[in-house]
Amino acid sequence: MYVILLGLPGAGKGTQAALLKDEIGLAHVTTGELFRENIRLGTDLGKQAQPYVESGRLVPDEITIGMLLDRISQPDVARGCMLDGFPRTLEQARALDEALAADGKRLDRAIYIRVATDELVRRLAGRWSCPQCGAVYHETNQPPKQPGICDNCGSQLYQREDDKPEAVRTRLEVNLKNLDPLLDYYRQQGKLCEADGEGEVEAVSRALRNCLEGER
Ligand code: AMP
Repeated sequence: MYVILLGLPGAGKGTQAALLKDEIGLAHVTTGELFRENIRLGTDLGKQAQPYVESGRLVPDEITIGMLLDRISQPDVARGCMLDGFPRTLEQARALDEALAADGKRLDRAIYIRVATDELVRRLAGRWSCPQCGAVYHETNQPPKQPGICDNCGSQLYQREDDKPEAVRTRLEVNLKNLDPLLDYYRQQGKLCEADGEGEVEAVSRALRNCLEGER
């Protein structure tokens, strides 16, 4: 099964993908995390992506598409996965469809997690992330048990460069511009399912499971 999670930054795609991964065993592939890992490791790809990622702009399609197609061709995700943060442009959406079709596969569902912009700004500004395991926390909504320390692995939490106010504004603008065409693209294919992303984590998760079970 191939599923896409669509939503603006801060909508909860990562949180929900991690929950679904545990519940239904669908592997989680996230382009943001792939870029951050390459930046940490100082790879060529990381060096190319870094200025875009840190300022909140989209990494160019030719870099992003190559990285993602390479990732989903690997054995651990060969039977399907949940994509989080990809596609973010129509070009990326088309490239994914073509690559899956070339392999005799297809995308099953695109789930849009809907959250109002004001709420997203609030969420991103208070977000702290774990550099080691990728877990995310929120200062007030979902604080770690011990301030500044990851519950899962004990690493020191940090605030992502692109969760700082200026980059947050750029990320939301860029993603807003690209979102509607993507929603239309999947709506026309009859694959789009919308989930209200403003409730409790558990309620959002239920809405996502309904989408996966085919309730549109
Ligand atoms: P995220 O963790 O999904 O918010 O992604 C962090 C950053 O990685 C984004 O602001 C972009 O700079 C870059 N990025 C992630 N996914 C994509 C994508 N599909 N296309 C272009 N850039 C991306």
